Amino acid sequence: MPGLLVADSLKAYYFTKRAVVRAVDGVSLEAEDGSVLAVVGESGSGKSTLGVALAGLVKPPLRIAGGSVYFKGRDIYAMGDEELRSIRAVGLAIVPQFAMDALNPTARVRDLIRDIIASHRDSLPIDEEDVYRRAQERALQIGLPKWVLDRYSVELSGGMRQRVTILLSTLLNPEVLILDEPTSALDVVVQRLVIQYLQDLMAERAVKSMVFITHDIATARQIATEMAVMYAGQIVERGPAESVIGSPLHPYTKGLMSAIVEPGASIKRAKLEGLSGEPPDMANPPKGCRFYPRCRYRMPICEREEPPEAEVGGIKVKCWLYAGKT
Ligand code: SF4
Repeated sequence: MPGLLVADSLKAYYFTKRAVVRAVDGVSLEAEDGSVLAVVGESGSGKSTLGVALAGLVKPPLRIAGGSVYFKGRDIYAMGDEELRSIRAVGLAIVPQFAMDALNPTARVRDLIRDIIASHRDSLPIDEEDVYRRAQERALQIGLPKWVLDRYSVELSGGMRQRVTILLSTLLNPEVLILDEPTSALDVVVQRLVIQYLQDLMAERAVKSMVFITHDIATARQIATEMAVMYAGQIVERGPAESVIGSPLHPYTKGLMSAIVEPGASIKRAKLEGLSGEPPDMANPPKGCRFYPRCRYRMPICEREEPPEAEVGGIKVKCWLYAGKT
């Protein structure tokens, strides 16, 4: 069964005067009904750009340079503005990184909810009182007091604003929810509440599928059913989360997984045991395998040719070590 949200050889590049930065360069993945797909990788690996591209929110200098994104079988980049608007919040929603900083400071949370209702009133049978009641109930679930609806965002702490963005994005029960570092401003106790809230939404089928973008593998592990590991604009390994975490195949994933210590452990550039060096310049990536300069298993072919994606025991891995072992 095809996924609710599918990326097929997706390329999203930043076209600047000085260079073309290939932030997302040939990514294929699927967010299936009932699954939480975690996209993990170091800072600068292209995860956030991938999230924006999956949500259909590409703006210059970022452009789609190739491939497609399908929401329920429809290419979102072939949709008109009106069709794309009609699936926002109810079909495909995103909590972008730093969304909390973009909340309108002159509107109360209640006003922001009213705006969301107003923008879908024509296309959806919405009972306004039901939505406010749902907002109050869900606010409590993620540790926000009821009075939060009557406050301006500037009156709230960073952690509260982050939870408000999650509340707003889930209010109309989107079928697919993309979350980019949704717990970054939260302490560990509140992180657990948010993860539990997201799990409850999945269990109640209020949300059918999630893409959870994070540099925090320990947090991803708490919620993910599937995992995709991103390096230098490409997915180097993907498959069931427990398999990718427990028995990683790609040399980069092996280095990443050595960083799992406890919730909150994060991936920082070149700070991982077994991973020295820096990710490549995405304006001028290596010709063959992008991990070649840092890989302890590298072979001559790795420098010359891009590795194909092989499937080994249910895991898809992009590495010459596994080519031909499908
Ligand atoms: Fe290492 Fe070669 Fe595999 Fe790249 S393709 S990860 S350089 S072994």
